[in-house]
Amino acid sequence: MLKIAVIGHPIAHSRSPQIHGAALDSINVEYKYEKHDVKKEDLESFLEYAKSNLDGFNLTMPLKVDVLPYLEGISEEAEKFRSVNTVKVKDGKLYGYNTDSDGYIQSLINKGSDPNQKRIVILGAGGVVRTIAKKLVECGAESVVILNRTIEKAEEIVKYIGNEKVESVEFSIENITANCKAADILINATPLGMEGNDGDFEDTSFLQALPEYAIVSDLIYAPPKTKLLKDAEKLGLKIMNGLDMLIFQAIIADEIYLDKKLDLYEVYKSVLNRI
Ligand code: NAP
Repeated sequence: MLKIAVIGHPIAHSRSPQIHGAALDSINVEYKYEKHDVKKEDLESFLEYAKSNLDGFNLTMPLKVDVLPYLEGISEEAEKFRSVNTVKVKDGKLYGYNTDSDGYIQSLINKGSDPNQKRIVILGAGGVVRTIAKKLVECGAESVVILNRTIEKAEEIVKYIGNEKVESVEFSIENITANCKAADILINATPLGMEGNDGDFEDTSFLQALPEYAIVSDLIYAPPKTKLLKDAEKLGLKIMNGLDMLIFQAIIADEIYLDKKLDLYEVYKSVLNRI
C-alpha cells in the first residue's frame, strides 16, 4: 500500500487528498493519504516520522524551501528552482522534486496553448513565478514579461533566469495594458481575487487590449472563476483557472511515488470526473 501525505500550515482546506485519491483510485492503486498541519518549527520531527512511516509527501509554502537542508538528494528541476513540492522516501532517506512547473505546462498544453513561440505576460513575481517563468522559456516562449508591484522581485527573477527573452516591468494598469497588446497568454500569479484574500483587480480594462485569440490563465482555483476570468470570458477570451495545474502537478508527483510513467491526460480526465 502506498502511504503518502500533504503537509503545510494551514492545511485543512487542501484539495490534495481529494485529487491524489481520485488519481490513485483511477489506476487501482491502494493507498493511505494523511494530512498533517506542520509549521516550520515542526518540520524536523515530521521528517523523522515520514522516514519510517511514509512513501512520500507533498509540501506547501514556506516548507518547500525549508525542507532543502534535510534532503539526501534533489532532482535537477528542484535544484534549479531551490524549491521542493514533492518528497519521496526511499530506504529511510528523503529525495526532493518539484512538479509545479511541469504541472503548469501540462495544464496549458491540455487547453491547446503550448507555450512554444508564445508571448507571455505574467502578473506577480512570487515563488510560483520563479518556477513557471523559467520553464516557459525552456519550452520555447518567444517572450516573458513579468510585472510586479515590488519591481526588485521581478528583476531578481529575470536575473536568475538570465535570458534576454525575459524582462521585468512595474505593475500598473498602464504597463499591463501596454504589454497585453502583443500577448498570447496572460497569467495571473498574484492572490488578487482569491477566496479569503482582501484585494481584487478593481480595473480589468487591460483585458480589452489582448488579441482575441489570447488565453487568460489565473493560477487561483478558489473561486473557480475569479473576477479577472469572468471579465475575460465576457470579452470572448479563452480562460483557465489553477485547478488543472494542481491536478497535473499531483499526477506527476504520483508518478514519482510509484516510480512509474502514467498516462497524464487519461488520469487527469478520471480525476476531473471524480472530484
Ligand atoms: P507569493 O510568493 O506570495 O507571491 C505573490 C505575488 O503577488 C507577489 O509577487 C506579490 O507582489 C503579488 N501581490 C500580492 N498582492 C498584490 C496586490 N494587492 N497587488 C499586486 N500584486 C500583489 O505567492 P506564490 O506562491 O507565487 O503564488 C501566487 C499565486 O499562485 C497565488 O494565488 C497562489 O494561490 C497561486 N498558486 C497556484 C498553484 C496551483 O497549483 N494552481 C500553485 C502555486 C501557487 P509583491 O512582490 O509586491 O509583494
